[in-house]
Formats: sequence, C-alpha cells, structure tokens
Amino acid sequence: MDYYSLTDPSLTARFGDALLSSLAPDGGLYMPKSLPSFSDAQLAELGAMSFAQCAAKLARHFTDDRFSDDDLLAICEDAYDFTLPMRTFDGRELDAAVPEDDDEFFLELFHGPTLAFKDFAARFMGRTASHLLTKSGEERTILVATSGDTGGAIGYAFLDQPGVKVYIFYPEGGVSKVQEQQLTTMGARSNVKAVRIAGSFDEAQALVKDAFADKALSKKHNLMSANSINVGRVIPQSFYYFWTSLQAKAAYPDRPLVYSIPSGNLGNLTGGLVAKRMGAPIDRFVVGHNVNDPLVDYLTTGEYEPRPSVPTLSNAMDIGRPNNFPRILSLYDNDHKTIAAEIYGASFDDQITARHLRRVYNETGYLMCPHTTVGHLAMEKFSAGVDQDFTKITVATAHPAKFQTEVEQVIRDDIPLPDALAVLYDKEPSVHVMSGDLDELAAYLDKHA
Ligand SMILES: *Cc1c(COP(=O)(O)O)cnc(C)c1O
Repeated sequence: MDYYSLTDPSLTARFGDALLSSLAPDGGLYMPKSLPSFSDAQLAELGAMSFAQCAAKLARHFTDDRFSDDDLLAICEDAYDFTLPMRTFDGRELDAAVPEDDDEFFLELFHGPTLAFKDFAARFMGRTASHLLTKSGEERTILVATSGDTGGAIGYAFLDQPGVKVYIFYPEGGVSKVQEQQLTTMGARSNVKAVRIAGSFDEAQALVKDAFADKALSKKHNLMSANSINVGRVIPQSFYYFWTSLQAKAAYPDRPLVYSIPSGNLGNLTGGLVAKRMGAPIDRFVVGHNVNDPLVDYLTTGEYEPRPSVPTLSNAMDIGRPNNFPRILSLYDNDHKTIAAEIYGASFDDQITARHLRRVYNETGYLMCPHTTVGHLAMEKFSAGVDQDFTKITVATAHPAKFQTEVEQVIRDDIPLPDALAVLYDKEPSVHVMSGDLDELAAYLDKHA
C-alpha cells in the first residue's frame, strides 16, 4: 500500500521510501492511501493472536514487498518483547477469560526499555529502517528533537544499528533528570549523540526543521526524521489500540469502549483513530492536554490556532503546534462536526494535575506519571458528562519514575527507580551544547560525518 503527500496527493511513495525520506518532496506529511478493513471473523482471529503476531499482520498492510511476512513477524516479535497490560487501580490485569465487573483500566504502555509508550513506535521504526538500509547499503543521519521521551526511545531503538547516526536535540532545563540521564549515557563513542540546545523545545524542533528544509544539508548527510512527522512513527501506534480494544471488547462485549489519551503532538491519538478506521471496536476518544491545548479550542470552536508552548509538569506534552493535526483533519475530510462528535478534549493546569495525581495515589495506591494523570482527569470529566456506561481505558504513557523528582514532590513520598533507570546513574553522561543555530549544527554534522 502506498502513501501520499497531504499537501499534494499526486505525490506518492512506497512505505520504505516514505519512512527513509520522512517528508514528501513538497514538504508534505505522508498518509496511507487506504486502510485495511477486516470482517468480524478476521477481527476475532487477530484478537486471539499474541500482540506481536497481530502487529505483524497489520504491518503487512502498511509496508511493502521489501518485507516478507516472516520479516515482519521477526521484526514485531523482536520489537515487542515486553507486555502491555490493562490494569485496574489495584493492579489486577484485564483478563478476557474471567472478567470481573471492572470498568476502568490503565493501558500501561511503559514496559519497554525506555519506560514510555514511544518505544512501541521507535522500535518498529528502528527495525524496519535497519532492514531496508542493510539491504540497500545506504546510510542515514537521524535528527530528532525531543521534549524528553522521544529521544530516549529513538536513541535506544537505533543504538549500534549499522548505517545510522542519531543526533538527539533536547531543550536545556526542559526534560526531567532521569530523561536527561537516559539521553546522555548511550556512550560517547556510540552512534547516538545527545545535543543540548540553549532554548525551549520549540527552538530545538525549529532547528531540526530548518536542517531538513535546507536541501543541500539534507542531501549531504542523508537526513531522516524520527519525529512524528515521519509516518513510520505514527503507523505502529495504531497496533496497540487495535489489539487491546479487541481484548477489552471480548471481556465486556456489551459496553461501549472509550480511550483517554494524554496528548501533545497528537501522534498517539492519530494511531488510535487509524485503528478505529481499521475496525477496532472503539466508540469514543478522549484527549487530555495540559495548558498547551490548541486542539481543545479547535474541538469547541472549530478555530485552530497553534501557539508557542509553555513549560508544564507534563513536559512531553508541551507542544503548541502539534505535528499531526493535519493528519487528523485528513482522516475526517476536514469535517469539524464529526471530529468533535468522536473526540472529546479537555485541558488541565499543573495545580489540578498535581492534586489529582496525589489524590488517586493516596486513595487507590495507583501511581500515575504526570501525563497519564492529565489523561485520567480528562476521562473523569468525560464520564461525568455522559449517562452511559463505558469500559474506560486511560492510556498510561510513561512510568512514574521517569519523572521521579517531579512526582516525589507531588506525593511527598519516595519512589524507587526501576533497574532500567537506576543503571543509568552508573554511566558517564556525554553531551554537546549548542546555541540553536543552523550553521553551528551544519559544522557539527560535518565534524562527525
Ligand atoms: C510523547 C508523550 C506524550 C504525547 O504523545 P503525542 O503522540 O505527542 O501526543 C504523552 N505522554 C508521554 C509520557 C510522552 O512521552
């Protein structure tokens, strides 16, 4: 199946070319030309498979003939060697075999190596890109701007992969301590380098965008983006909505299903919407934002006004100009009414978020990261306004310990670091500091080429 450019639909590309070039030649975002649909019998079959097997079947529709069915299964089994449980407040897992009458779950997408949901997309992207580059012998230089979690996920997904160099750009003071340790300890001699920008996330992102827009620079270094402008980041995020919704529906067939997604660049939401288009039994989407919430305004007024981002407690969602908004419009043919009917949005400031994180922890023992808390607040607000019973799934996007300092301050209690994070503190950080100037970036890339 091919991909087309949102700004000029006559420009099309196969999966591999869309992935490795990131943007269409006219600078447009790629979208799949068509989405598969499945019969009820096929849906039942996919739901009965393991997550990795189901992901490989879905990936068949989104990739091209440079991947055999066996390649895709091997890629998905290797990428998804961790669990994605749906848990109640007291930690029980949703089990389709013996459902109790629970109606509220957290879909924990943070059991991958960097403890945030971005591992799902990054690991698929890393393995599909390496598969293509190994076959063709080509090379790529990946530039990625991060507000905290993307950089770690992409860095680890491409660490020691042949044919790729990765440069991660993060804003000074804009990421958590644990995140910074994760970004800067992949090894001074490794193919993954961390660059700290003296500026905000918007400035880091602008620098990376300028580098791609510079045709000569882009060509010289074979630049590739691993941010969610790359459709290869967005597609795998449909897989977990597809599979988990089949599990939830099997357990509670009579209840409609709603997911709440704490959001920033809207890539995770786009994945959910794509899953629904493929027949995933999801009835509604709720989107939780911090005060960086142009989508919420759009849902209520129909007016979309991106703006500069403001720093918050949920730093991975400090995005004022979400990359994936045009993809969402395209999925709905720009029809505001339908978008507003299927997606409910709400935003919350840091004070409300901190209070809710603390309250849920004190009352139930379930500890959420600040992003997940925003999603859960939105789910509560949504439920309070409807008189229908839903199976409610809040997407838990990161492990709370990834924001150890911030979360400890909120709950006034210590939280232990899981081993995966504790080992980072035995490693020596290495980082390059840069002003955010394109000439400086170009010189830096030349030096390391
Ligand atoms: C990236 C991130 C988000 C936001 O996801 P988008 O796809 O950008 O909307 C939410 N929570 C966490 C923990 C993240 O890392």
